[in-house]
Amino acid sequence: MNIQKNQIFTVKITDMGTDGEGIGHLEDSDALSGNGYTLFVKDAVLGDTVLAKVVKPKKGYAFARLEEVLEPSSDRVEPVCAYARQCGGCQLQAVSYEKQLAFKDRKVKNNLIRIGGFAPDFVEEIMEAPVGMEHPFHYRNKAQFPVGMDKNGRLIAGFYAGRTHTIIENRDCALGVAENKIVLDIVLDFCMEKKIPAYDETTGKGLLRHVLIRKGFSTGQIMVCLILNGSSFAAEQELADRLFEKVPGMTSFSVNSNTERTNVIMGSKTRTIRGKDRIEDTIGGLVFTISPQSFYQVNPVQTENIYSQALSYAGLTGNETVWDLYCGIGTISLFLARQAKQVYGVEIVPQAIDDARQNAVRNGIDNAKFYVGKAEEVLPHLYETEGIFADVIVVDPPRKGCDEECLNTILKMRPKRLVYVSCDSATLARDLKYLCSQGYELKCGRAFDNFPMGGHVETVIMMTYCGDKGK
Ligand code: SAH
Repeated sequence: MNIQKNQIFTVKITDMGTDGEGIGHLEDSDALSGNGYTLFVKDAVLGDTVLAKVVKPKKGYAFARLEEVLEPSSDRVEPVCAYARQCGGCQLQAVSYEKQLAFKDRKVKNNLIRIGGFAPDFVEEIMEAPVGMEHPFHYRNKAQFPVGMDKNGRLIAGFYAGRTHTIIENRDCALGVAENKIVLDIVLDFCMEKKIPAYDETTGKGLLRHVLIRKGFSTGQIMVCLILNGSSFAAEQELADRLFEKVPGMTSFSVNSNTERTNVIMGSKTRTIRGKDRIEDTIGGLVFTISPQSFYQVNPVQTENIYSQALSYAGLTGNETVWDLYCGIGTISLFLARQAKQVYGVEIVPQAIDDARQNAVRNGIDNAKFYVGKAEEVLPHLYETEGIFADVIVVDPPRKGCDEECLNTILKMRPKRLVYVSCDSATLARDLKYLCSQGYELKCGRAFDNFPMGGHVETVIMMTYCGDKGK
């Protein structure tokens, strides 16, 4: 079937892709090509009948644009945010929250079946009901707004449109906190007054690149950090006065210097202009200090649910030795330490390990020890040289999953229980397939919707060692 760019088709959306895009098959394609021709239609919802315009035709499938919804799906809702379609931040705002959750649960299960090779009935049996959010908006504790200039020379802040660096102006994102708008109004008005120019990616000139805002949900503390193409700006103290006067909870105001021509948002140097260097938040009764650069989970409500699940899957009685691989600032490690004999954390970012050590001290935890380095190097090295042991291993790797060297050492250490916290169920399924071919058995798991309105989903899985019978 010869599909051309800009051709328009009527198509019924019968499935959803991994990023939440609608999938439909052209009805007469079988007759024409002998194969079904598939359209991937961003912004179309499962159950819709739509007019879709082909953007990128390929052999057997095409990416298409939603032109018009002819018959809306019963799962369709009116997006809360006016920019939901253009903005790259949300993929699922037009889908009812109940169906978003069902979609994510299905995505995890399908990956376990298709990539992990587990039987569908078995997956249905072991997976517990997905955990969604009671209030699926305003859940993010962190936002990084890029700053630019519009045609009239006015400063704008917002989010990038999908797959581009075009800024969609929006100071009041529906996923973020109410303080975001207050801060942005103050910062942008100030910069207009003082003629502080926005950074321009194409020329590398200008000063203000991003505004980073973080809020400790349990403490109400607000951190504002301006990311500059330079190291300072005029009248810094005047802006500090305005922020500290008008923003409720204002605790830390800093500038970060990033003079590189890069997509990486933050540079390495941060200078506090007023207030504290860090803010604090609590999860499950533990206090964590957060600096502008440190990694911290963006959805505190679901993070507590995920950590509690990981803790319950770890099955601790107080006598166990536990390894927490990919531990970040030690959040899971400290959660587990309260109910284990000893916890060891491994993390690649040295500053995160500094934070982890300070967090342990801050919370009076003395049975957690942290190592800096790659899990796939630190673990094999310690196993070879010191013969380290674990009753339980928890892993929480980035999207690419665990390195095989790391998995091989886990297999040698043979902990009774393995808890896998994952932000990408495709790599999770790949790693589980390997572990389960080597003596581990999948016992239970659960999906957590950490990113309502977005396409991603977190999963927590528990495995036990069952020796040869698992092979
Ligand atoms: N468990 C933490 C962090 C999870 S995010 C939390 O819940 O907050 C994944 C972490 O893995 C990040 O902190 C990242 O810096 C770290 N990381 C990435 N690659 C790594 C590797 N090869 N070895 C160890 N840590 C790694």
